[in-house]
Amino acid sequence: MLFEDSIIECSELKGALFTSKKVTVSIARLDKIHPVVSGNKLFKLHYFLKESISQGGKPIITFGGAYSNHLVATAFACRLAGIPCTGIVRGEKPTFVSHTLRDCEKYGMKLIYLSRKNYHDKNMEALPGFSTGLYNDCLVVPEGGYHPMGAAGASLIMEKLAVYHATHICMAVGTASTLAGILRANNNAARVIAIPVLKNLYDIDERLKYLGCSHLQTQPVILDGYHFGGYAKKTPELLQCMNDIYTEHNIPTDFVYTGKMMYAILDKIKNDYFEAGSRILCLHTGGLQGNSSLPAGTLVF
Ligand SMILES: *Cc1c(COP(=O)(O)O)cnc(C)c1O
Repeated sequence: MLFEDSIIECSELKGALFTSKKVTVSIARLDKIHPVVSGNKLFKLHYFLKESISQGGKPIITFGGAYSNHLVATAFACRLAGIPCTGIVRGEKPTFVSHTLRDCEKYGMKLIYLSRKNYHDKNMEALPGFSTGLYNDCLVVPEGGYHPMGAAGASLIMEKLAVYHATHICMAVGTASTLAGILRANNNAARVIAIPVLKNLYDIDERLKYLGCSHLQTQPVILDGYHFGGYAKKTPELLQCMNDIYTEHNIPTDFVYTGKMMYAILDKIKNDYFEAGSRILCLHTGGLQGNSSLPAGTLVF
């Protein structure tokens, strides 16, 4: 692993709600592993980085939007590992380049902008230099690490968390690669609870199959209805909940993923979804850099 000795710290939340419902809630702080390559992204990249290094630093090419946690994590990880990398960005180059993309460039990632249509159609031929074979010798990391190798990397998270003997493991879902990794390493020990952060994410079963979960008996519990209008959408209640979590527990969350997951879990605890005695472990999957796109003063942290 890029950060070999990284242990995952767990913070237990204290409060009257948890004592009255007789549950414990802990947050696995993947966000603390590294300020830039934080959260689940490092794990999802692990086997790609290894593969590149075993081939003498084969250049990596990957994909993402202007605020992508995955792009910036890849840029930084590649810099640490000495791997050249290129990021294909969804959409034309804007007048104001996002802080995320500026960071990517700062870490040495070469950015290429692709129109939304070509990006959506995965029309790689539209990339400058494609016809001359510029990308032939690259290792392609799909957007968000959505690949069985990404899920295999994410299963390393579960290995580190097994010592906590949780009854429930909860996480936000984007591509479902992290979810797949957790399921693959879970050994049916805990209930796995997944909170989609996108609207209409109805193909989780197929995703899990592709990501190598087809042989598993455990099905995750999907808690729909906590996407707050869709990917990267937010409401005042969500932001208030994030501010409360910070004020009461000193834990910063992001509004795209972990904030929504925590809102869902707290809501379910209030509504007696978890039986007494539950040991609930929530994954803080990182992504705090995404909060920089919010107007100053929105969050208390
Ligand atoms: C990318 C990301 C996720 C989603 O992970 P998937 O493996 O794509 O489901 C969750 N949380 C954060 C902070 C992320 O950046």
